[in-house]
Amino acid sequence: MSNNIQSVRGMNDWLPDAAETWQAFEDVVRAWLRRYGYRELRTPILEATPLFKRAIGEVTDIVEKEMYTFVDELNGESLTLRPEGTASAVRAVIQHNLLYDGGKRLWYTGPMFRHERPQKGRYRQFHQVGVEALGFGGPDVDAELIVMCADLWRELGIAPTLQLNTLGDSEARARHRAKLIAYFEQHQDLLDEDGKRRLHSNPLRILDSKNPAMAEINAAAPQLIDEIDAEARAHFDGVQKLLTASGIAFEINPRLVRGLDYYNRTVFEWVTDQLGAQGTVCAGGRYDGLIEQLGGKPNPAAGFAMGVERLLALVEAAGRPVATAVPDAYIVHAGEAAAAFAWQAAAAIRAAGLAVVMHAGGGSFKSQMKKADASRARVALIVGDDEVAAGQMSLKPLRADAPVGTGETQCRVSVTQAISILKQASA
Ligand code: ATP
Ligand code: MG
Repeated sequence: MSNNIQSVRGMNDWLPDAAETWQAFEDVVRAWLRRYGYRELRTPILEATPLFKRAIGEVTDIVEKEMYTFVDELNGESLTLRPEGTASAVRAVIQHNLLYDGGKRLWYTGPMFRHERPQKGRYRQFHQVGVEALGFGGPDVDAELIVMCADLWRELGIAPTLQLNTLGDSEARARHRAKLIAYFEQHQDLLDEDGKRRLHSNPLRILDSKNPAMAEINAAAPQLIDEIDAEARAHFDGVQKLLTASGIAFEINPRLVRGLDYYNRTVFEWVTDQLGAQGTVCAGGRYDGLIEQLGGKPNPAAGFAMGVERLLALVEAAGRPVATAVPDAYIVHAGEAAAAFAWQAAAAIRAAGLAVVMHAGGGSFKSQMKKADASRARVALIVGDDEVAAGQMSLKPLRADAPVGTGETQCRVSVTQAISILKQASA
């Protein structure tokens, strides 16, 4: 066994039960996004490395130590497996001039890659659903993004809580930065290695440290909220008013800074205490400077990304049933004539939009019926010599939710009758 090749550490297979749960989640997500007028954007998984360095910031956990970066040996270009989706979305929006006629509401989903230490809720390949509202500057859009999250949580039957903060604009951040550097310089002996390195390059990032030893010194650090100017404060008040009007509870967390450099003004995280250390299921905020920073015409923007693995774990913890697909029927057949009849019947039943698993691999009726049970199909359709002679199939209910009208016992039906019974049951 030890010679067998395994999946890459921190990268998971999604076996059918999990994949179908994911599909059911995606169905809910697509319908939810449509209700809010967001449209899907699909971008490549590989991007030129400088995109992420410029967007996320050189002195961040992601760019400093988490990116899968390699040189394309055919042309010497440095490429990176995307660690997040906002940079790609903004790149595409600029490249295709999508904002030429006004703001756009977009979303994306797919795998992201970060070279982190794998643990529950933290993987090297994980998945996000991301939502971006580009070209809108008002607090209404910040509130819309948050309200729509709350709407999705309701539908999924989960209840993460909302943490909110404002990072203000660049002048406030510059003032705060100077105060932070002065403060951390006074406490240099308490800084960890990352902290010492970031003291002058990116002191705000020190506040985002995951090191428990840094908690105390960070707790007493100068707060950005004290530097926020009137305009940004009014924006933040506007967001809070709309949230309150929508009945959304939130907690202001002045230490919430987010791990990426591109944010300004509103930032938020949806957190839960039900998933251990990896408690943030969704995070986002405003990033008004990013489009210009990546070479586009200045345009405000805001968005968020949620972690699919963490959300599905939370849905599971809430005791939601796993949504897996079941076939409508499993066809059991023995003999050459029966196989030919069954083959035609399966085609007709599928053409009617029903799901049929055709038994493969031969075997006795008894062993085939075991497979039928294991398939979780609603009914078995049995074809033997008698049935072929009569041009019929025997329909046997396999589950409590088997088709109505057939009772518990087996009955003989034509293919047309089988289709109408199965259709009633799956309606
Ligand atoms: P964390 O603080 O947990 O490292 P982050 O701030 O790096 O998260 P974001 O870049 O904001 O995360 O990504 C948005 C969401 O994607 C997170 O809230 C989380 O749900 C999910 N996520 C991020 N990194 C991972 C990972 N390595 N494995 C699984 N999910 C992740
Ligand atoms: Mg992280």
